[in-house]
Amino acid sequence: MKRRLTELAGWLQAEGQLMDDVLVTGASIDSRTVSPGDLFIPFRGEQVNGHQYVQQAIEKGAVAALWMKDEPNAPTTIPLLFVDDPEQALQQLARAFRKELTCKFIGITGSNGKTSTKDLMASALAPYFNVQKTEGNFNNELGLPLTILNLKEDTEIAVLEMGMSDFGEISFLSTLAEPHYVVITNIGEAHLQDLGSREGIAKAKFEIIDGLQKGGKLFYDGDEPLLQTLVDQTPELEAVSFGYGQSNDLAITEIISGDTGSQFTVAGVLSGSFTIPVYGAHQVKNALAAILVSNELRLDGKQIASALMQSKLTDMRMQPIVADNGALLINDAYNAAPTSMQAALQFLHETSLRSKKWAVLGDMLELGDNERHYHESIAEQLRTIELEGILLYGPRMKWLYEELQNNGEQTTVVWSENQYEPLIEKLQSLTDEQSIVLFKGSRGMALETIVKALEKQ
Ligand code: ATP
Ligand code: MG
Repeated sequence: MKRRLTELAGWLQAEGQLMDDVLVTGASIDSRTVSPGDLFIPFRGEQVNGHQYVQQAIEKGAVAALWMKDEPNAPTTIPLLFVDDPEQALQQLARAFRKELTCKFIGITGSNGKTSTKDLMASALAPYFNVQKTEGNFNNELGLPLTILNLKEDTEIAVLEMGMSDFGEISFLSTLAEPHYVVITNIGEAHLQDLGSREGIAKAKFEIIDGLQKGGKLFYDGDEPLLQTLVDQTPELEAVSFGYGQSNDLAITEIISGDTGSQFTVAGVLSGSFTIPVYGAHQVKNALAAILVSNELRLDGKQIASALMQSKLTDMRMQPIVADNGALLINDAYNAAPTSMQAALQFLHETSLRSKKWAVLGDMLELGDNERHYHESIAEQLRTIELEGILLYGPRMKWLYEELQNNGEQTTVVWSENQYEPLIEKLQSLTDEQSIVLFKGSRGMALETIVKALEKQ
């Protein structure tokens, strides 16, 4: 952005100090990563009071800060805007700035694959447009407004990830961003605890149409009956489906997995052959959303295909890493829930990248009452894969460990409740250049600790 501090004060109807000639070019809530020109937004949490870092933010280049009205000792030498609630102010600023922007907005939600789809879509569009996307996983009520406030004036397309853990949140983000196109990647079981049922999850994701602009379109996982039902109940909505099912508007007709990624063909509203340098059939499905939106933005199949070949995902999404001993590590440990666990194991089942297959699995969190069942039922899929070994980490993985033991699992199975070391030692001694090791677990399990220990230095 590029706005005078006095304009921001007007958007917020806030009083300020030392506002003259201050030009704001972005926003930050973290004094450690402030960029020059930023407005620093301090939050008052239980542990940390961001107001104490205002001075540090200014030293790093911030040009002004918000300040809560009831916070004492406001510095008199720093340009400030006085607000009741910094979080609301951040959202209000983003909403006002959004209204002045003329670029196209794309909103992406879903249980799994939001970040991957966002990356694939930005990759598909990047050679042809000025594209800006959500950095990392900045997908919530703070990350999304921050992303908007950091959009540049010459950005033509903003690709925004929208995450949630409860009803109302996606609606809030979508009405703030007012997207032209929205995507629902899939419905899984993440956040079952808060949303009650898969129907609840589907409804919560479907809220993404709340902010959709007139004439806008929804692109959705047409293999998910719950989404199809919601689409059928909304006849005024223009909706385009994608997936494996051949009746989808864009359907996958073939996938060939190779050493460097996946080659696939599609049929329907567009037909052609594409390659992404990313492993896993589930990532091909994410690429369909990227293809559809790019096509909507008037790119043809050839243009999209050549751009997708260069795509790059955010770290820890099916990320290949070579270990010190030559083993190929697939770091998919950013997060895990039953659907993404299945998708990752399906990749391990199908891959012929290396002959000796290992799975390192960590607890799946936030699954509610059925969590035991979800962990135990991984055993069935594991039995379909020819594995050298299964290494389990975390208290919930004990359920899977016992399930495997009770059913006479033949391969090496190791379980550790909270120690990485035994798993690291096993992998160091038993894997080699013929091995492929998949890492999958919830964020809280931090399985990348093991990856880092094995990585080539
Ligand atoms: P988060 O809610 O943590 O932001 P996300 O929706 O952004 O997650 P990604 O970070 O892209 O999703 O991927 C999370 C995990 O889900 C990864 O392990 C990835 O391999 C897997 N995944 C990605 N796309 C799909 C899909 N379409 N179906 C199932 N699993 C998927
Ligand atoms: Mg994400």
